[in-house]
Amino acid sequence: MSNPDTSFVPDTSFVNDTDRWHRALEAAGLGVWDWNLKTNVCIYSETWCSMLGYRRSDFAETDDLFLLLVHPEDREMAIESGDRHLAGKTDSIETELRLQHRDGHWVWVLDRGAVIERDENGAPVRVIGVQTDITQQKQVERDTSLVNERFRLALTAADIGIWHFDVARERSFWDAKTCEIFGLDTVSKEIGGHTWHRFLHPDDRLETEKKHLLALSEKDEVKLRYRIVREDGEVRHVETLAKSVPTQGEAGYLVGTIRDVTRVVEAARALQTEKERYEITLGAINDAVVSTDVDGLINFANPSAARMFSLDEKDLIGTNVHSILQGNGRIKSVQSGKAGNSNDDVILEINESYYRSRRSPILNSAGECFGQVYTSHDITSDFNRREQLAYAAHHDALTGLHNRVAFDEALEEAISRAVDERLAIFYLDLDHFKALNDFAGHAAGDEALKAIAEGVSVLLPEGAFFARLGGDEFAILISDCDRSSAEKLATETIGSVRDVSLSCAVNGPRLGCSIGIFVIDDPSIAASDALARADDACYAAKSAGKNRYAFFTESRSARPSGLSAAREVADLTEALEENRLLLFAQEIRSLHHPKEPCSRVEILARLRARDGSIVGPGGFIPAAERFGMAAMLDRWIIRKALGEHGHRLEQVNLKVGFNLSAQTLCDPTLWPFIKEVAEESSTPLSQIAFEITETAAVSCFETAELFVRSARRHGCTVSLDDFGSGLSSFDYLRRFPISCIKIDGAFVEKIVDSKIDRAIIASVMELSRNLGFDVVAEKIENEKVVARLQQLEVAYGQGFHLHKPEPLNDLISRRSGYVARHETVASVVCS
Ligand code: C2E
Ligand code: CA
Ligand code: CA
Repeated sequence: MSNPDTSFVPDTSFVNDTDRWHRALEAAGLGVWDWNLKTNVCIYSETWCSMLGYRRSDFAETDDLFLLLVHPEDREMAIESGDRHLAGKTDSIETELRLQHRDGHWVWVLDRGAVIERDENGAPVRVIGVQTDITQQKQVERDTSLVNERFRLALTAADIGIWHFDVARERSFWDAKTCEIFGLDTVSKEIGGHTWHRFLHPDDRLETEKKHLLALSEKDEVKLRYRIVREDGEVRHVETLAKSVPTQGEAGYLVGTIRDVTRVVEAARALQTEKERYEITLGAINDAVVSTDVDGLINFANPSAARMFSLDEKDLIGTNVHSILQGNGRIKSVQSGKAGNSNDDVILEINESYYRSRRSPILNSAGECFGQVYTSHDITSDFNRREQLAYAAHHDALTGLHNRVAFDEALEEAISRAVDERLAIFYLDLDHFKALNDFAGHAAGDEALKAIAEGVSVLLPEGAFFARLGGDEFAILISDCDRSSAEKLATETIGSVRDVSLSCAVNGPRLGCSIGIFVIDDPSIAASDALARADDACYAAKSAGKNRYAFFTESRSARPSGLSAAREVADLTEALEENRLLLFAQEIRSLHHPKEPCSRVEILARLRARDGSIVGPGGFIPAAERFGMAAMLDRWIIRKALGEHGHRLEQVNLKVGFNLSAQTLCDPTLWPFIKEVAEESSTPLSQIAFEITETAAVSCFETAELFVRSARRHGCTVSLDDFGSGLSSFDYLRRFPISCIKIDGAFVEKIVDSKIDRAIIASVMELSRNLGFDVVAEKIENEKVVARLQQLEVAYGQGFHLHKPEPLNDLISRRSGYVARHETVASVVCS
């Protein structure tokens, strides 16, 4: 191939204007080659050389430029392509190959050529071709293929199908994935425009079609979710992203992706269902549930929690849980769980309700805490029950006061702490309470106890400890109490008990109380001993006539504390055995002739102590009653009195009256006993009288009534003793067949000054005239009283002013003499 560039002259049969061709070739960037098969010389144009950065003159004429510059990998293929054409197998040469640029880089060219001249046999003689630089195009191709590859990979990874819809042709193109989603063969294909519509779920069809149409007119992509029904009936959820791609002058395309989101939808739905279930559950349970983030800010609260805090669920969200829990001293107690991630139990008090609140950390799978859950259980009823039990253990159910247990504890505690404090113990015992209970019923008794508890409570100084020890016994503990304030308080307490109004059919005065006071001076004393001393003093008060108070005195009880009553009984038993029990008698005189001896006496018991001193009945009768020995004592006295003097009584014109305790009166064998003793001692029953108190009578109403009837039938006198000191039910008087009442000394002693007492006695007199019984006034201590009683027409009287109790023996002996003298005088007169 020898062809200087100026010598390249195409065949003039084709081209006339060489310059024009040159310029055209250069402008088109085409390199031309011209191969003469006969000479086997190929000429390359100047433009071909400049395409590769050379000038034609850079090469020797003999150089085979093709072989010199073609890429070794492409050479074979290029030659082959030429050979096939020369062999008549192809219409033209068309191949792509690389040529080396002068810089060293490869230039892609498209080589196209064809035989343009043949010999007479038709064998090719000359081939001309052009080579176009397609490097850039090649680069674009490579880039495009890379993008496509990436795109394909992304779609595969995302399980996304792509499709497009040719609006004008009403045809769709679905890729394999799209086909798969619709349940078709997994081969990309063109499908009819109506196919897609056919798959739409009937419920979603209208909306989906509308959105697709909308996507056509929108600039931005449209995302939509809908359901399709596959041919086998399976429903799938799909998500599509569609975008309109307009083409000039045509209706354009709608291109899009499609993704099967059935699993996502189902998972979301399952999650939602689960969430709803949790919410319903949390909404339905009574436990309050609150969850917080790590900072303690509430991010969930159920309705119970809202109720618990009296806040809206909305208002709870975002609030700090600690400020809520700790607000207003709500935490009552904390019970810490195990150390470490402690689940603390806290007892909360909110609006009078109690909750056990437990905190548990919310941990993720890595064990890190990202919040807390607080569950609070309403334990108000448990809590209250526990409080109630604790309360009940230390309180008296009826009065609400403290009980014995609480008092013992408080006393012990107070003694241990009272070093130089004067600690006073009041021991209260109600007088006549049993009678009230028995006569008016337990309900009335209960009412009275409650009223007393209330009435006394208001009198007590702050810090006083008031307890009901049981039955009708109370105790009060008062710190820093001197003797005078103790006296004042005791007086007020007695007044308060007396003023308690009894709702039952009981008239007049009333309940009373006896109070024993012990002021602790020795802090080493045992609590039980201290209480026993107050009890001891209470007995003293009772013995001294009830409705009063007494201080404990060492001399009163030079015996081991707490044992005094028992010791008294022991003494009494010994006294009976040793015949140290003495019978005294006190006359009951006619107030018309108060100076004259009478025909009636009351027997009063006395005890001669070992030291020779005389002890009054107050020193042993309460103990005898307490230890059930009163009946034995009374019978002993009756037997002794009648045994010694019964046969003489008629002769000396004396009726002897015996006091009967409740235990004596309530024994149904009492009357047979009296008859037997009377018979044995030859005592006419008419010479015997009995004194019973209402307290005793109402404690066994029927038995007492029977006894009284029997006694009355046989001519015995039956007096109601201490009238006015107890309940004094006039109604009861009407039903009880007594023959005499003895007005309690308390009314008599003040008769001169007290208009009320006079009025009471007057009304008793009125009653006595109506019901027909005698009246005896007790405790007459002076002449003025006698005069007043005479004005009131009281017929009989008893008292130190008229006659002081003396030994029965003395009285009888004197009386025998008197009677004898009187008879003598009478006989003298008569004679
Ligand atoms: P009572 O039945 O009310 O007896 C009257 C009490 O008043 C007697 O006290 C008597 O000594 C006292 N008394 C009489 N006149 C006066 C007076 O003018 N001024 C004062 N200050 N007192 C006067 P006593 O003997 O200490 O008896 C107290 C109570 O003991 C009696 O009260 C009676 O309930 C009971 N009692 C006495 N002997 C017996 C008995 O043998 N059996 C029973 N069960 N009880 C008895
Ligand atoms: Ca009496
Ligand atoms: Ca009396």
